[in-house]
Amino acid sequence: MMTERPIVGIDLGTTHSLCAVFRDGQPELIPNALAHTLTPSVVGVLPDGHIVVGQAARELQVAHPDRAVACFKRWMGTERRVEIGGQSFDSQELSSLVLRSLREDAENYLDTAVVDAVITVPAYFNDHQRKATKLAGRMAGLNVRRIINEPTAAALTYGFHDRQAEKKLIVIDLGGGTFDVTVMDVFEGALEIVSTAGETQLGGEDFTTRLMAQVLKTQSRQLENCEMQHPLFVSRLREKCEAAKRALGRQTSTSVAIPEDDGRFRDPAPTITISREDAGQWFQPLVQRLARPISRALRDARLEAAEITEVILVGGATRDRTVREFVSQFFDCQPHATVNPDEVVALGAAVQAALITDDRAVEDMVMTDVCPFTLGVQVVKQFGNKEVPGYYLPVIHRNTTIPVSREEVVATTRANQREVEVQIYQGESRKVSDNLRLGALSVPDIPAGPAGQPVHIRFTYDLNGILEVEAYLPQTGKKFNTVLTNHVEGLSPQELSSALVRMQQIKFYPRDNVRHQRLLRFAEKAIGEVSPFQRDELEAAVDGFEHAMEAGDRELFEQMRESLLLTLSALGLPMQDVDDER
Ligand code: ADP
Ligand code: MG
Repeated sequence: MMTERPIVGIDLGTTHSLCAVFRDGQPELIPNALAHTLTPSVVGVLPDGHIVVGQAARELQVAHPDRAVACFKRWMGTERRVEIGGQSFDSQELSSLVLRSLREDAENYLDTAVVDAVITVPAYFNDHQRKATKLAGRMAGLNVRRIINEPTAAALTYGFHDRQAEKKLIVIDLGGGTFDVTVMDVFEGALEIVSTAGETQLGGEDFTTRLMAQVLKTQSRQLENCEMQHPLFVSRLREKCEAAKRALGRQTSTSVAIPEDDGRFRDPAPTITISREDAGQWFQPLVQRLARPISRALRDARLEAAEITEVILVGGATRDRTVREFVSQFFDCQPHATVNPDEVVALGAAVQAALITDDRAVEDMVMTDVCPFTLGVQVVKQFGNKEVPGYYLPVIHRNTTIPVSREEVVATTRANQREVEVQIYQGESRKVSDNLRLGALSVPDIPAGPAGQPVHIRFTYDLNGILEVEAYLPQTGKKFNTVLTNHVEGLSPQELSSALVRMQQIKFYPRDNVRHQRLLRFAEKAIGEVSPFQRDELEAAVDGFEHAMEAGDRELFEQMRESLLLTLSALGLPMQDVDDER
C-alpha cells in the first residue's frame, strides 16, 4: 500500500547517490533517467551554462576536469567553494543539485510529486554537516523529515529482513570517503544501536589515490606535484587506477596505461603491471586504520570481537580484498554481504520512511539510535586560586540513546558576573581546543551576587542528530535558547532565502535531455556504420531530431524522436536500452 505522498529514502553518497521508496511492504530502489540505480555524485557545467548531474557529469569530468566536480561530500558543512565552468558552488549547493536530480527521477518513476525525504549521513557527521545536508535538501525542494546515520540505515535493511533473529551485529561501512562502524542488537523486532564510531577522512578514494601515488613513483614522479600536472593527466590516470583497483578483485594482476603529460594516450601507451600482492601491501597502511574505530565501537558496546554474531559489509570499498581479509581476520569469521553493499543504505532509508508513516509492514519494528559523539561546554577549572579556562564538560556522552535531553549546572566564576557566554563543543578531548566548536549561547541578565550563581544548561539531541541548547536561570526563571536554533541552518533568514532563490535559478538540464543526448549520440555514431545509401535517410532523421531538441516545441519534438527511433530500428539499429555504459 502506498500513501498519497511518498517519503523517499536517499543515500547521498560521496561517490554515488541512490533513492528508494517503501511500497507494497518492501523497500525498493528508484532508477534514474538512465535506468541506473546509482547516480554518480558528480556535478558539471556545460559550455552553455546548463548544469548536468550524475553519469553525464562524470563523463564530462574525464574529458574536462575543470567543468565538473566530485567528492564534495568530503567538505560538507565547510565554507569551501569551487569554481566549475565559471560558476562557483559550495558543497551544500552541489549536494542540492544531486538531490534535485534524484527527486526528479523519483517523481518521474513514481508518477507523483515527491516532497518528503529521509536523507542518510555518515554517523560521524557533525552538527554543521547535518545542518548543511538538511539545507541542501531544502534547496532541492525537499522537506527533510529525518536525517539518519548511514550505518543505522544499513542495519534497518538487515533488521527488516531478519526481524525475529536475536543477534549482535556489526556494520562496517567503507564508502568513497568515509568509514563508519556500528554495533547493534537485534531482538524480536527491536533494533537497538548500541555504539558507533568512525573516521570522516578514510574511504575507497584513498585507495585509488594510493595506487596513483605508487604508479607515479615508478615513473619517478610524485603525486604531490599533481597540481603542476596537466589536469587531464591526473583525471585520466585516476580513472585508470580506479579501474585497476576494481580489476584486482577479479584477477591476480592488472596493467595500468599511463597517459602522456597532456593527458592523451599514446598508441600503444606505456603500461605498468600491478599484482594483487603489491596493491595489498600498498593498501596496508590504510587498512590498518580500520582497526581503531572498530575497537572503539566494540569497547563502547562492552563487547569482544568474538561476541559479534554477524559482520555486515556496506559500501563499495568493502569489495576490496585487502579490506575483506582484514575484517575476516579481525572477527575470525566470514563477513556477510547478502544485500548489495551499494544499495543497503538507501533501502534502509526507505524502511525508515515506512517507520515514519507507520506503514503496516513495519508495525512490529522498533528502532533506537545513539548520539555518535560527546557534546558539551567549555568550563573554567580552579587550581588553588588560579582559574584555568578551556576545559571541556560533557553534557551528552557519546553513544547515549537518542532522543536525549541532559542538563548540567555551571556557575559564574566572579562576583557580580552578569553574563555567561556558553561555548558549545563536540568531541572527545579533555580540552576544548581539541574539539569542534559548534556555537555559543549568550546568557545575560544574571542577578548580581557572589561568584557561584548557577546556570542550568540543557542539551537536547534529536533523532536527526541536531542539537538544541537551552540555558535556564533558576534565580529569575529566565530561559535562553535562541542562539543555536538560529544557527540551525547555518544561515540568517535573508541568506537562506537568497540561497534558495539562487538555487532555483540555476539552469538545470532537464532529466529527459540526458536521455535525448544519448539517443542523439547513438544515432550520430550509427551514421558512420550504415551503408551509404541508407545514410541520407538517417542523417535527415538525426538533423530533424537535433533541431527539434533545441526548438522547444514539444509536439514537434515527440514526432521527430519517434521518427528517429523508427528509422534506427528500420535500419536494424534499434536504440539499446540506455544501460550500455555502466
Ligand atoms: P559512498 O557511499 O561514499 O558514495 P560507495 O559505497 O558508493 O561510497 O563506495 C564507493 C567506493 O567504493 C569508491 O571509492 C570505489 O572506488 C570503491 N569501490 C567500488 N567498487 C569497488 C571494487 N570492486 N573494489 C574496490 N573498491 C571498489
Ligand atoms: Mg555510502
